[in-house]
Amino acid sequence: MKSISNLRDGIVRGETTARAATESALNAAEKLNDSLNAFLEIDRAGALNRAAQVDAQSEKTDLPLAGVPFAIKDNICVRGMQTSCGSRILGPYHPPYNATVIDRLIAAGSVIIGKTNCDEFAMGSSNENSAFGPVKNPWDLSRVPGGSSGGSAAAVAAGIVPVALGSDTGGSVRQPAALCGVIGLKPTYGRVSRYGLVAFGSSLDQIGVLAGEVSDAAAVLQVIAGRDSSDATTADVPVPDYSAELNEDVKGLRIGVSRVLLGKGVHPEVRAAIEKSIEAYRDLGAEIVDVDLPHAKYAIAVYYIIATAEASSNLARFDGVRYGFRAKDAPALKEMYRKTRDEGFGPEVKRRIMLGTYVLSHGYYDAYYLKAQQVRTLLRQDFTRAFEKCDAVLTPTTPTPAFLFGEKVDDPLAMYLNDIYTVTANLAGVPGISVPCGLSSDGLPIGLQLLGPYWSEARLLRLAHAYQTARPLNARPRVFA
Ligand code: GLN
Repeated sequence: MKSISNLRDGIVRGETTARAATESALNAAEKLNDSLNAFLEIDRAGALNRAAQVDAQSEKTDLPLAGVPFAIKDNICVRGMQTSCGSRILGPYHPPYNATVIDRLIAAGSVIIGKTNCDEFAMGSSNENSAFGPVKNPWDLSRVPGGSSGGSAAAVAAGIVPVALGSDTGGSVRQPAALCGVIGLKPTYGRVSRYGLVAFGSSLDQIGVLAGEVSDAAAVLQVIAGRDSSDATTADVPVPDYSAELNEDVKGLRIGVSRVLLGKGVHPEVRAAIEKSIEAYRDLGAEIVDVDLPHAKYAIAVYYIIATAEASSNLARFDGVRYGFRAKDAPALKEMYRKTRDEGFGPEVKRRIMLGTYVLSHGYYDAYYLKAQQVRTLLRQDFTRAFEKCDAVLTPTTPTPAFLFGEKVDDPLAMYLNDIYTVTANLAGVPGISVPCGLSSDGLPIGLQLLGPYWSEARLLRLAHAYQTARPLNARPRVFA
């Protein structure tokens, strides 16, 4: 797989065409989808049209992503394609507009080849909650790709596209990136517009980038970041040049490690890989310091209260009236709502709507929702304190490598515990990146996670790039284009 800059420069110089790049991505997507189930829609005609427009443009030097093929998670609206969110209840929906990130990608010259499979409404860590069957992990088809952006992660890992967009509410970009051996970047809350992203937990959601190479993640963030008048939660903070400091060394940067987070519950091979990566950073000249995140142990509980509360409110709009699917044989309005939601939503989404409604209900609000918000503030303060001592905190991205299909699906709590390292970043609003840091004895990828202060994406990318350059993952998944 070529990096974006090689591909784009070749197209700009006329050595290859957007059409050729698009065709090869489309061919790979069609060929591998039987085994991976990574795409819910592949738009051959639309993508070739778009590629022709790029090729027809005489001046391409001002297109930073000229002809770069993209895959987009199926909860981000792209005009002319479906949006299902991995759910039956949307019908699917065909949005008459583009998400802001999509407008920006298109203006930069990229070509969207299709929409990727995901857990229903982005709720899950294994892709087993998609109404359209799970995505398979390209490294081992009997294992999960992670979730919820599993289709985007698998499409990048299998070399179908160099880059893809996902969404990250509690780890859904970083966790599948780790399990599929690719880069996953979740920006600071407010860095990237959420306009056109179907809402799950609005105070947590952020669109992120999956890429084979850190430099490609930087190039994509450059295009999608920044203030958007259609999303009032985007911040008016200048967007730096994310590629400028990529190649600077990491000497003198301080990396915080919490020994407690490397304690019980971590797979021994994950712990060993993380210890090795800490040594690798030390060899690169970084200073390793001890940090403490005393409230991190409450993160899962807090996340699964706040995320479900917000989801129960956000998903109230899917009632058979405005979008897609409507149940048949429901003579009265209430019956129609009830049957539509019963038939349209899968079991995990229903579980979360019930949990969320419960924690918001009169009599329980103070005990659960309010308490969770208070602990969320404490968690935020943990990070503020940690970042007084270090430039980034390093943790595993996930406690284990990719697990088997069916292994955790009947035990929601075991599934939720997979998010132990990722949900803190969303609760605090800080950015995070997952970088492949080794393979398990079964040949499965392991990811390290770096978390930084607000707006520190440039530094996180630099730290990740230094690691990827020094210790590249010199292996390919079994299923590869
Ligand atoms: N796995 C987490 C969940 O199930 C995170 C999902 C996400 O980030 N969208 O909620």
